[in-house]
Amino acid sequence: MSSDGRGIYTKIGIVAGSICKKDCIFFCPACVRKEMESLGEAYVHREHQLQGIFMCPHHGKFLKEYHANKWEKSRVEYIRLDGSLLDLSDILLYQGKHTDKLLEIAKAAYYLLSHSLGIISKSDVLLRYKNLLYKNDLATDKLRIKQDELHDRVVGYYGTELLSILESSIDKNNEYNWLRAATRNVARTVHPLRHILLILFLTGDISEFFQGVHESHSPFGKGPWPCLNKAADHFKQDVVTDLAITADFKTRAPVGTFECQCGYIYSRKGPDKDRKDLYRKGRVKAFGFVWENKLKTLLSQQCHSYRKMAQQLGADIKTIQKFEKLFAESSPVVEKQKSNINLKAEYREKLLLIMKEYPELSRTSIRSRCQKEYTYLHRHDRKWLFEELPKKKQSKGSNGYIDWDERDHEILMQLQKAHID
Ligand SMILES: [Zn+2]
Ligand SMILES: [Zn+2]
Repeated sequence: MSSDGRGIYTKIGIVAGSICKKDCIFFCPACVRKEMESLGEAYVHREHQLQGIFMCPHHGKFLKEYHANKWEKSRVEYIRLDGSLLDLSDILLYQGKHTDKLLEIAKAAYYLLSHSLGIISKSDVLLRYKNLLYKNDLATDKLRIKQDELHDRVVGYYGTELLSILESSIDKNNEYNWLRAATRNVARTVHPLRHILLILFLTGDISEFFQGVHESHSPFGKGPWPCLNKAADHFKQDVVTDLAITADFKTRAPVGTFECQCGYIYSRKGPDKDRKDLYRKGRVKAFGFVWENKLKTLLSQQCHSYRKMAQQLGADIKTIQKFEKLFAESSPVVEKQKSNINLKAEYREKLLLIMKEYPELSRTSIRSRCQKEYTYLHRHDRKWLFEELPKKKQSKGSNGYIDWDERDHEILMQLQKAHID
C-alpha cells in the first residue's frame, strides 16, 4: 500500500474509477429534522456519502446535496452542517420509478457499513456466489457459470435504465464486464455497489447472503445431516455428523459420503440445491449392523415377500436376496433356523405321507416307524403333530397288548407291496 493511503481505494474496490461519484456532502431531510430536534444540530452520516447510494436507509427519503462544496474547504477542515443552508423539503428522483430498488441498495450498503465482516474472505464470497448461482440454475454441476443467462436475468431484474443510473450497465460482449469479473475471479476488483447489485439479485436480502457464507463452504450445507437408514429408529433425523467430501472422478463434481453411527453409509453427488436434496441418496456404501439385524428378523419371520422387505428397508430386491445368501453362508444361527424350517416341512410331509398310505397305523406305530421325524416334530412342532396324528386307540390285542412283531411283519409286507407297486 502506498504511503499516501491511495492503496485503500484499490482495497475497497474503487480503483477502477469511481461510480456515481459524489462531489458534495449529502444529507437526509428526515435525519436532519430528527437530529435538530433531539440534538440541536444535524451531523453528516457516512451512509449518505456512499457512491451509488441515493436514499437514506433509515427513512427511505432521497438524499439531498448540501450546497457547500466540500472541495472548496480544506480537506482536513471539520465540516459542520449549517442549518441555514439545509433545505428540508422532500424530493423525488427519477419520478419515483426506482425507489424500491434504490432503497434496498441503500439498506444493503448500510448493512456492509454496520456489520463486521472482516472474517469473510473474497473467496468465501465468490464461493457463495457460485453456490447461489447453482441454486438459481445459473451454474452447471461443475459450478461453471452460465454467463449469458446470468447477464439476461440481472438486466431483467434491474432494467437497463436503473443499471445506467447506477453506472453499472453490463456489456454482454465484453469478456471483462463487471458481472463476469465478480463471478469469475477473486483477483479482480469490483466496486462494492456492483457486489450489492449481484447479492440482491441472488438473495434479495444481504443479511441472508452473509449468514449463508459459512454454509456454502460445504456443497452439502451445514450438518448434522439426516440418516437415511429406513431400518433405524432415527430414520430421517439429523444425526449424521460425519461427512467426507471428494470430487467425482469424471465430472469433478463434489461427492459427499455420509456415515452414521448405526453403520449406514450413503453418498450423493452435490452440491445440494434445496432442502429436499438432504433426503436424496445416490449410493448406499454400507447398510450397517442395525439394518442387517432388522433384515435378519424379517427373514426369520418367514412371512414377508422380498418386495415388501425391500420396500420396508429402502433397498432393492436383489440386495435383500444377496444379504439373505450372505447371512446363510456366514451366520450359523440363521443357517440353523433356515435348516430347521426346511426340516420341519420335510418331516411333516413324510409323516403325512405315511399316514395317508397307512391310515390304520396307530400313533405308536407311526412313532416307531418314523422315530427320527416323530422325535423332531414332538420337540419342535408338537401342536401340529398331535393335531395330525390319529386319535389314541385302545389296543386291539386280547391281552390288552399289541403284538408288535406281528404288526411289524404285517406292515413290512404292505410296505414291500407299496414299494413294488
Ligand atoms: Zn434519514
Ligand atoms: Zn443411522
